[in-house]
Amino acid sequence: MNTVFTARDIEAIIATGADPSAAARDAVLTPSARDALRDYANARKNGTAKTSNTAISTSASAPAKPLNSKSPKAELDAFFNSAYCQGLKEQLCDIGRRMWQREYVDGNGGNLAIRVGEDIALCTPTLVSKGFMKPEDMCLVDFEGNQFCGGKKRTSEILMHLQIMKRQPRAVATAHCHPPYSTGFAVAGMAPPTCMIPEYEVFASVAIAPYRTPGTPEMGQLVADLVDKHNTILMANHGVVSWSHNSIEDAYFKMEILEAYCRTILVTAQLGVPAKTMTPPQLQDLLKIKQSLGIPDPRHGLKECELCDNAEWRPGVQCAVPATVPAIVGLDADAEAAVQAITSQILAQLNK
Ligand SMILES: [Zn+2]
Repeated sequence: MNTVFTARDIEAIIATGADPSAAARDAVLTPSARDALRDYANARKNGTAKTSNTAISTSASAPAKPLNSKSPKAELDAFFNSAYCQGLKEQLCDIGRRMWQREYVDGNGGNLAIRVGEDIALCTPTLVSKGFMKPEDMCLVDFEGNQFCGGKKRTSEILMHLQIMKRQPRAVATAHCHPPYSTGFAVAGMAPPTCMIPEYEVFASVAIAPYRTPGTPEMGQLVADLVDKHNTILMANHGVVSWSHNSIEDAYFKMEILEAYCRTILVTAQLGVPAKTMTPPQLQDLLKIKQSLGIPDPRHGLKECELCDNAEWRPGVQCAVPATVPAIVGLDADAEAAVQAITSQILAQLNK
C-alpha cells in the first residue's frame, strides 16, 4: 500500500530541510499536499523557500489549564469573558450566519457547539435565528446540559451535541441543521448512494438515526450510537448533525458537502442515464486519504469488492461492482424453480 501524504506531512519534510518532492514521489497525495508541493517548488524558483512552517497564529490561545465542570465559577466566568472565548463565540456567529444564508436552517432551528474543556461546551442559544446571533448570546454548559454562563438560555437540542461529545472523545465541535436536500433523504429514510463524488467519500461518513422527538435523551442516544464510525448523521424526519475532530467550521463543512452531494444526486437521477460511478480501486485511493486525515469510515479495511454499498438506492443508480455479496451458495430450491418458471414463460411470450 502506498503511503498517503497530507499537507502537514509535506510541511514536516520541508521543516527538516529535505526536498519533499523526492519523498513524495511514490506516495498518494491529498489535494492540499499537492498544493504544498507546488508552493514549495514555486518558492524555490523565486528563491523564497522557507525551511520551516512559519505560520503565526494571531488569535488568543486556549487556557493553559483545561477547565471542567468542577472548576470554580470565577474561573469559568473568566474563561467565558476571555479573548479566546470571544473568538470562539464569533466563530459560532459566523457559522450560524453561513447556515442561514445557505437556507440550512429555518425559524430558530439548528444549533452549534464547541468543546472547551474536559466536560464543558460553548453552544448557541434557543429562540434566536442562527443568521442573527451575537457573541453575547452564547452559553457555557456542562455535559449534562447545566448552564454556567451566558445571558440567554441554551438550545434545547444541546443534549444531542453533548451525547456525541461524550461518546466520541475526538469530537471538538458539533453542528446541527435542516438542509432541505439532505433532510429529504432523511425523510425518505435513505442514505445517499456512494462511489460518485470524491469530496463526499473523503470528508463525510453518513448513517441514518431513527426518528425520536427532538431534544430528548432518546434522540441523542440513537445519534451517539453511530458516531464511532460516522461523522454525519441523517436524523430521520428531522435533519442532519455532524461532528469534527478539527473545528466548528469543519463540522459545518460536512453539511455543505452532504447537501451539495444530495442535490447533485437528484440532478443526476433526472438525466435519464445510469450514473457513472468510480471504480473500487479509485474508491480505495479516496479511503486511504480519508484514513490519513483521521476521518472515520466503516469501510476502512474492507476489500475492494466490498466497497460499494448502494444496492438499496433506487433512482437508476448502479454501483460499479455487485453491491451485496451474501455468502449464500445457490438459491433456495423453491425460489429457483419459481425463477425458472417465470423465465420460461417470458421466453415463450417473446418467441410467439
Ligand atoms: Zn433540529
